Amino acid sequence: MKKTASFLAALLLTLAPLTACGEQEHTVSVLAMDTVMELTAYGGNSQAALEKCESRIRELDSLLSVTDKESEIYAANHSGGRPVALSDDTASLLEAALALCAATGGALDVTVYPVVRAWGFTTGTYRVLEDAELKQLLRRVDYKKVRLGGGTLTLPEGMELDLGGVAKGFAGDVLLDLLREEGVESAILSLGGSIHTLGARPDGSPWRVAVRAPEGDGYAGVLEVRDKSVVTSGGYERYFEKDGEAYWHIIDPATGCPARSGVLSATVVGEDGALCDGLSTALFVLGPEKAEALWRARRDFDFVLLLDGGAALVTEGLADSFSLIDGWSDHPLQVVN
Ligand code: AMP
Ligand code: MG
Repeated sequence: MKKTASFLAALLLTLAPLTACGEQEHTVSVLAMDTVMELTAYGGNSQAALEKCESRIRELDSLLSVTDKESEIYAANHSGGRPVALSDDTASLLEAALALCAATGGALDVTVYPVVRAWGFTTGTYRVLEDAELKQLLRRVDYKKVRLGGGTLTLPEGMELDLGGVAKGFAGDVLLDLLREEGVESAILSLGGSIHTLGARPDGSPWRVAVRAPEGDGYAGVLEVRDKSVVTSGGYERYFEKDGEAYWHIIDPATGCPARSGVLSATVVGEDGALCDGLSTALFVLGPEKAEALWRARRDFDFVLLLDGGAALVTEGLADSFSLIDGWSDHPLQVVN
């Protein structure tokens, strides 16, 4: 009897471990948006709140998926140029995404999908595209032709949307709002390269978020944050190799080819998760000089760029909270003021 009781106690501890300051920790894993998501929250109501988060993620995934035949994005992509009614979720994400496409001069372009698919990044049948085919495909890419108003979307025939560059960051914002409404004060959501933090850790110390090294399995740096989103885009996340060259899933809409800007990974830190996600993809395309210019013009985000050649570039807002670690600890770290 005693044995059973202690076994049960041990089991409960694994399911809901207590932190050093006595707050209960709950974790939920969800497979959605093509990735494994891990949601961790602390405190009394956190388990119930995380269950609501799980259904909310599934709801968003089913609206935004580019491959799910029931999704709103799929309906828009097969509308033959006819107007399509959008849910509030899809409309508000698309509105934010289109604003970021404009703000980045089209480095982020939510209509790049025909090109992404032709390279094989959604089908798994990879091939290197020739100039003539790229030229044809690029005729179908231009976010400026997307019409959105009053909850209705009109996409010219032949064009297709892909919100994969912003959806996880947007999901992070939605989930953090939900957790706040449920009274949760401390949580960290890891949505596959898109990290969203609520408050601080239960003991009041900042969250420590690691930035992957672009090569190998290790890490290049660590960021200390509170109430911030940290979103990374890297070529290493999805790529194929042909004749010794790597081709990755982040496409420069100006050329239709994988972006080669000198950036190996772009991490954006800020309060708005959708903005961080959209900008991380865009900065990877833009490269260090244009990334810096965009930061100077906006100042509503910070970044860490890991550059080809081994240097790291961070904006001044992160100078005290970012440090290089492991194999990157002796690499040059330059602060952008
Ligand atoms: P992320 O991991 O947020 O950088 O998003 C990468 C995903 O966004 C890719 O897998 C594509 O589906 C899509 N994508 C690739 N290049 C672009 C681009 N230039 N603008 C918008 N979306 C893109
Ligand atoms: Mg992104």
